[in-house]
Parts: sequence; structure tokens; C-alpha cells
Amino acid sequence: MGSAAGCDGTNPGARPRVRGVSTDGQTRCAHYHSELDIVAIKLRCCSEYYACKYCHDALADHGLVPWPRELFDTRAVMCGACGTELTIAMYLACKSRCPACSAPFNPGCSRHHHFYFSVTEPTA
Ligand SMILES: [Zn+2]
Ligand SMILES: [Zn+2]
Ligand SMILES: [Zn+2]
Repeated sequence: MGSAAGCDGTNPGARPRVRGVSTDGQTRCAHYHSELDIVAIKLRCCSEYYACKYCHDALADHGLVPWPRELFDTRAVMCGACGTELTIAMYLACKSRCPACSAPFNPGCSRHHHFYFSVTEPTA
């Protein structure tokens, strides 16, 4: 069991490193650690994957910068189950399920999207 939360990029499958507090092999952290909390987000400010914004608050020495809408085609969200990197647009459209492996994501995360992404109210 799980010693995959390394920090040297040598994991099989070459997943990006995910920073965070007490992260496990599927990017859960000290703050979010349910079965569904398997999404890591690369942050605009430092181009590093973090398990959640609180991990960034704890480990980074700067404020979190959300992604602007024009960069939503950037691969900045990683599924902790399969390691696939999704674009922000794919993640926002995926209805809390990984498009690659169908792993369920935490639907409650959508309440936090504005911390990471410059999402606005739908105009429809
Ligand atoms: Zn940062
Ligand atoms: Zn965290
Ligand atoms: Zn997946």
C-alpha cells in the first residue's frame, strides 16, 4: 500500500508531482480525503499541482491565482485515479466524473471552482 506520494517524479506512469499536506497516491490530502477527493489542480500562480487550495495556502509563499477563462483549454486538472490530465474545460464539463476512467469526483468541489478558475455565472 501507498508510498506513491513521492516528490521526485519517478513514479511509474510518470504522473506529475502533486504537492500537498499528507497527500496519498490519489491526491487526497489532510483537508479533503473522502473516496471522491481524487482531483489535483495545477495552479496558475506556480504551475504546480496541489491537492487543494488549503494545501497551497499551507505550502506556498504567495496567494493563489485562478485561471482566466481564455486558458481553460490548459491541462491543469489531474484525475488521481487514472492520472489523466484534463483541461479545465473538460473538468468543468465532466459532471463530477472522470472522462477517461469514469471515476466519480466530489460534486462538492464545484462550490470551490471559483478559487481555482475564473468561473462566472452562466449567461444562458
Ligand atoms: Zn501558487
Ligand atoms: Zn489540502
Ligand atoms: Zn480518471
